[in-house]
Amino acid sequence: MTATRSRRPSFGIGAVRVRPGSSRELEIPITTLVTGAAVSLPVRVIHGRTDGPTVWINAAIHGDEVVGVEVIRQVMSRLSAKTLRGTLIAVPIVNVFGFTSGDRYLPDRRDLNRSFPGSPRGSLASRIAHLMMTEVVDKCSVGIDLHTGSDRRSNLPQIRCDLDDPHTRALAEAFHAPLLYHARLRDGSLRSAARERGSRVLLYEAGEAWRFDDWAIDAGVAGVLRVLHHLDMVDSAPPPPETPPLVTRRSGWVRARTTGILKTDVELGDQVTVGDRLGSLTNSFGRTLRLVRADRSGVVVGLTEAPLVNRGDAIAHIAEIEPVASALAAAAPAASGARDSRDPGDAQAGLAHEGEHDGDPDATTLDEHG
Ligand SMILES: [Zn+2]
Repeated sequence: MTATRSRRPSFGIGAVRVRPGSSRELEIPITTLVTGAAVSLPVRVIHGRTDGPTVWINAAIHGDEVVGVEVIRQVMSRLSAKTLRGTLIAVPIVNVFGFTSGDRYLPDRRDLNRSFPGSPRGSLASRIAHLMMTEVVDKCSVGIDLHTGSDRRSNLPQIRCDLDDPHTRALAEAFHAPLLYHARLRDGSLRSAARERGSRVLLYEAGEAWRFDDWAIDAGVAGVLRVLHHLDMVDSAPPPPETPPLVTRRSGWVRARTTGILKTDVELGDQVTVGDRLGSLTNSFGRTLRLVRADRSGVVVGLTEAPLVNRGDAIAHIAEIEPVASALAAAAPAASGARDSRDPGDAQAGLAHEGEHDGDPDATTLDEHG
């Protein structure tokens, strides 16, 4: 019976070819250290026995973002080359220099996620970007780029992507993170460079740098598996939560208006109304210097984890939520009202429309990831 089925070709990457129905770990050379030791990009390929899409998943483009490394480990442990349809390329640590030194950036202080698509003769960042593009991205139709908050900021699990592209949006909805964030492409980002080559990319943001937050890891693992299921690469995936993701196109950070010791009164995912108390800033004896209040209505999608803040520091990231009803009406006019009982949009029904334009500087404040 299998004799009549044509065998799938092997998959070439780096200096190796991966046979169908097998999994392979490899190291793609980047450069050498001053000691002469080789530095390479660790890659794992699962090349399924049966045809299907080629997808990549990567983490730690910023070297201090470890959540995605664990997400990839758990996802890979649940997949088998015998049953996977298509091919999955995993790059758990893209910024190998930053990862080993505990640094977000590269030794030359460049942000790898502003260095794509890179060049074989450019800076170190540019060379790693080029390697990632030619060895991984160019072979794939879909990619998932895993990130966390930076500088002691924690993010509600969210997918950032181009929600105006129906294919990308379908992937984002399949991932089913608590929040879908429409994010324009940033020059130099992996997402932007990959899109120019024709790939669809989801950027997952969750948790905080240098921490294994289980809630951020769990939502990431389930989301990646749901995307693979959506692409018909695997037979099953964790069921999505009953509540649909919140959708936002506009957000902004509330900043400290004075220097002090911060105590926050809200958590990630909390709904707030403009004027609500988010926390307080005290002096060293505990005397309240200032209350921190919401400057808009929405959901708290990012929070500082720092107990000491200087005037101007970002404290809370509030996303204005699109009304579910209008999103539904646009998608399926006949079905409005058929879907859900939750009403995250009701309170903000009048606000969301104001923000539906590009060019708002608040929309990308501190959104450093692309
Ligand atoms: Zn990042």
